[in-house]
Amino acid sequence: MNPTLYINGVWRNSSNGGRHEVRSPHDGSLVASVAQASIDDVMEAIAAARACFDSGVYSSWSWTQRSALVSKIADLLERDASIVAKKESDDTGKRLIEAEYDVADVVATFRHFAALGLVEQDHVVDVGIEHVTSRIVHEPVGVCSLIGPWNYPLLQIAWKVAPALVAGCSFILKPSELTPQSAIHLIKLIEEAGTPAGVANLILGPGSVVGNALTTDPRVDLVSFTGGLTTGKTIMVGAAPTVKKLALELGGKNPHIIFADADLDAAIDNAVTGVFLHSGQVCSAGTRLIVERSIHDRVVKEIVRRAADIRMGGPADLTAETGPLISESHLKTVEKYVAAGIAEGAKLLIGGKRSERPEHAHGWYFLPTVFDGCNTSMHCVQEESFGPVMTIEVFDTEAQAIAIGNDTIFGLSGGVWSRDTDKAARVAGALRHGTIWVNDYGPYRPQAEWGGYKQSGIGRELGSHGLGEYLEIKHIWTNNSPSRSGWFHDAVGGES
Ligand code: NAP
Repeated sequence: MNPTLYINGVWRNSSNGGRHEVRSPHDGSLVASVAQASIDDVMEAIAAARACFDSGVYSSWSWTQRSALVSKIADLLERDASIVAKKESDDTGKRLIEAEYDVADVVATFRHFAALGLVEQDHVVDVGIEHVTSRIVHEPVGVCSLIGPWNYPLLQIAWKVAPALVAGCSFILKPSELTPQSAIHLIKLIEEAGTPAGVANLILGPGSVVGNALTTDPRVDLVSFTGGLTTGKTIMVGAAPTVKKLALELGGKNPHIIFADADLDAAIDNAVTGVFLHSGQVCSAGTRLIVERSIHDRVVKEIVRRAADIRMGGPADLTAETGPLISESHLKTVEKYVAAGIAEGAKLLIGGKRSERPEHAHGWYFLPTVFDGCNTSMHCVQEESFGPVMTIEVFDTEAQAIAIGNDTIFGLSGGVWSRDTDKAARVAGALRHGTIWVNDYGPYRPQAEWGGYKQSGIGRELGSHGLGEYLEIKHIWTNNSPSRSGWFHDAVGGES
């Protein structure tokens, strides 16, 4: 049996012999068998990370040394890009070419944080006293539990692992049970790059068991989590008794607004990509299309035509444009969501069911789905399906478009299309979401912060703030000319 847990620099199997089978979302075939950690394994991994951090064996490395390590990991990822992409594609069912794009983004993430580690973080502040030096220094936050989802498995954990390493933290990584293979390979590369034992630890297993232990243990200083809102709330509760630092990247229900004066050809094309890419399993998917009334019929007709034409297929299908949902249980969730939408009066224009093509019979393929006649009181407008489902709402005025776009508990991302640059800038400014695309939808770069307003999360990944999450800030006040405080009276006075 391949040992797939990595604890204190050693590859091993679970202490209780637990295993987990990873199955292809495309056809249900066996993709991998991996170890499933016991609670004892989790305890050992946390102990290793804690001891490693407290010993200073890595946290005392200079910023330059840590940046060089992260840069080396980027090189190794680039060397193994095709191996990693294949594993990612097998686990997620996404096309190989999409997985290759994802791995390129992972490399860019490691390079970004390696470069950021060379930028001076510390500084001196002027406190207005000549004989006082006041320094602000940044130190690693400590032991981190890093927990990732299954939709972009390696990319989402790269956003955590790279800054944690640059900052000098030790960590325990837990990818989704459904998609562990790329994380296993990443840890192998981290080991190959020369990372000291105990810095990087890998635990595999169900979130409700091992994830719970990783987010409640008093020895953990920070939890960085990407996943669903419900799990995020559970983690907040579990982290509260020991006041852990939290970085949460949660769900989104993202408004995509098209004004009548937009470049409609580009807007419609991006609207289709924005919601059906990766079959809607994207936190920033533009699931809520919000269209100016005068162009509604034209836009809807075109979207339905394009949705009907989308080619679905598995990892090796070179003609496919999108793939299956991740699991049977997720497919059932999307089916229920669609049934609820129909029950509450949304008008189903296309899709709404599993693909009936024989080549999809053993996988979790759900057809691109469009609901018209929607409004913000509907569950299908308010709740994340995380599937290929678009809802369409209409507006008459700019103010209405903004109000509809903000009428959600989420605040991850949104888009606005208009040729009127002032209007587009006003709407972008008024939308309470962490990323707004103007006359575009979807691109991001590691240099720019990513994260959510409202219940889409806490904190930011990427950019420079994405490193800041893994740093404590210390103020060191040095009096270069010591004297008595003189606050309390001193009956004796004089020198001690
Ligand atoms: P999920 O069910 O919340 O799971 C995410 C991770 O948390 C998995 O590794 C899971 O383990 C683990 N987990 C589950 N219960 C846990 C617990 N009680 N304590 C600790 N960990 C626990 O989410 P998902 O279905 O994988 O991912 C889809 C969600 O992620 C969507 O809501 C999407 O919007 C969000 N997402 C957000 C972003 C962003 O940047 N904001 C990016 C990507 C995805 P197991 O699944 O292995 O049991």
